[in-house]
Amino acid sequence: MVSNYPELTRLREEGYRLTPQRIAILATLRDAQGHLSPAEVYQKVSKDIPGLTEATVYRTLNFLAEQGLVLVAHLGRGQLVYEVAETDHHHLICKQCGDMQEIDHLALEGLYKQFQDKTGYQINTIHATFFGYCPNCQKGSEG
Ligand SMILES: [Zn+2]
Ligand SMILES: [Zn+2]
Repeated sequence: MVSNYPELTRLREEGYRLTPQRIAILATLRDAQGHLSPAEVYQKVSKDIPGLTEATVYRTLNFLAEQGLVLVAHLGRGQLVYEVAETDHHHLICKQCGDMQEIDHLALEGLYKQFQDKTGYQINTIHATFFGYCPNCQKGSEG
């Protein structure tokens, strides 16, 4: 059953209600094994939950992100995507074609440590987004 998800166990332990929306949205993100926009989540979940509104999907995704149960990535132009992540990672996004690559967090650990040593900050940003141009689009702009 979907209600065995560790994310759901945590919600229950922390005293939150396991509403059908929360369960269905977490299940959808888990099944997707990748990133989904709120519109994509809505499309999938609304089949199972009649009467679901897009506003509820946004609110639920926001709630799950605040609880640290799902990760949110900013893709630029105000676009957000959500996922249930097994591993810490970041994203590279091409500003021209929208291509997205994942970078393992291990690759940035040294950098984080440098920042922490320098500033005394304890950095807890997992799932950052870096923008640039992919190899294909670089070729294009060179003509
Ligand atoms: Zn590109
Ligand atoms: Zn991600």
